[in-house]
Amino acid sequence: MNDLEKKQRTIIEPFKIKMIEPLPFTSKEERKQILENAGFNLFLIPANKVTFDFLTDSGTTAMSASQWGAMLTADESYAGSTSFYKFEKKVKELTGYSYVIPTHQGRAAERLLFSILVKSDSKIPSNNHFDTTRANIEHASGEAIDLVIAEGKNPSVFHPFKGNIDLEKLENFCKENHQFIPFGMLTITNNTGGGQPVALENIRGASKIFKRYDVPFILDACRFAENSYFIKLREKAYENYSARDIAKEIFSCADGCLVSAKKDALGNIGGFIALRDGKWVDQIRNLLILTEGFPTYGGLAARDLEALTVGLDEVLDENYLSYRLAVCRYMAEGLNKLGIPTVQPPGGHAVYIDAKSFLSHIPPENFPGQALVCELYIEEGIRCCEIGSVMFGKQSGAKFHPSAMELVRLAIPRRVYTQSHFDYILEGISNIVARKNKIRGLKIIYEPPYLKHFTAKFSVV
Ligand SMILES: *Cc1c(COP(=O)(O)O)cnc(C)c1O
Repeated sequence: MNDLEKKQRTIIEPFKIKMIEPLPFTSKEERKQILENAGFNLFLIPANKVTFDFLTDSGTTAMSASQWGAMLTADESYAGSTSFYKFEKKVKELTGYSYVIPTHQGRAAERLLFSILVKSDSKIPSNNHFDTTRANIEHASGEAIDLVIAEGKNPSVFHPFKGNIDLEKLENFCKENHQFIPFGMLTITNNTGGGQPVALENIRGASKIFKRYDVPFILDACRFAENSYFIKLREKAYENYSARDIAKEIFSCADGCLVSAKKDALGNIGGFIALRDGKWVDQIRNLLILTEGFPTYGGLAARDLEALTVGLDEVLDENYLSYRLAVCRYMAEGLNKLGIPTVQPPGGHAVYIDAKSFLSHIPPENFPGQALVCELYIEEGIRCCEIGSVMFGKQSGAKFHPSAMELVRLAIPRRVYTQSHFDYILEGISNIVARKNKIRGLKIIYEPPYLKHFTAKFSVV
């Protein structure tokens, strides 16, 4: 960690507030009742009963006055909308790629590209594939391969670029399988690994390997701006570069990108594919017309395109990025001071609490992560998400196979909460620390056949 990262004690939100939305408050008694009625599953609680919502950073951004203003100027023509040409110009300028295809969100971009390129014997390497990316590769009957460095799999180890791909493994993988690799990927930042950045040196290294084996290189670039600012802070060679120049440098290493605009394009909906070469474009656009819409709107309203065009600029403001990364760091350090261990170092968009170690008296089969999620709600109306045995644990007969980690993720919406919110939250969490030994585990009383974390119901053991 360098001085720039350490500098801030008080986080200064680099914006004034022009439009506000009241925080919903409830009493502790009400929250206990609400939680019980929802079967201790926070996905089943209405948002107006949540005071601080950390369920996801996806599509939850507060938009700026400029974004709302631009939306009013949108040209909603079915074909050839002025708003599309503005959006296309902005993406071309940022990425240097020649072809821009809008989609309604990131997974639609994945489905379009993969339907065309992935065959039944395809293998696609990445640092870590995000879950929708993996699912879309598998849906197209290919295989998604994760080759993140060893440090990226260890929550307590400090490494400045835990999202890096293991270049030696990648080289060997490409040597053995290149005829089966339709394209290679890198996720920046690495969401699955906790929002951890990838170094520019590592991106260049991967790019060289892919070139050597004639494998096109596609970035999953949802958090390109957060990743660029981590590079500025942590990679000596780029400390004097602007985040924008670093982002351009990143894109120049690859042949294209898939983006969910619900993250670093500061939008509430949207996504896109951008490609350097035109060889897949006609096929993608034909499929786009079939399932998303005409190529100049791709499932979005023109007003969404307007908001994203502005968002793609605003996200590279370094005052914003410095504040953005400071927030996760502040939350993680605050939790650590209270004796709550978190995944180290904190990533760009979320803080992950190690619930297995914090609530070590609750065995994995009684879901320490979910127990903590419930306590956070009861204490101060926080909503967050378990990433542990509720999500990944498996029961086979009498034997329970727990997840490797029992994490609780607080994903931070962009530009939504202020430092006083975080201070208030940390005060409440200190009450949870004081009573932690009394916190009880849970058992599942209902579960659906798949994706059980969304709808499962629990009772206290
Ligand atoms: C969110 C996300 C996606 C999928 O995007 P959606 O807009 O949610 O469909 C893909 N990859 C990564 C890394 C993401 O964070």
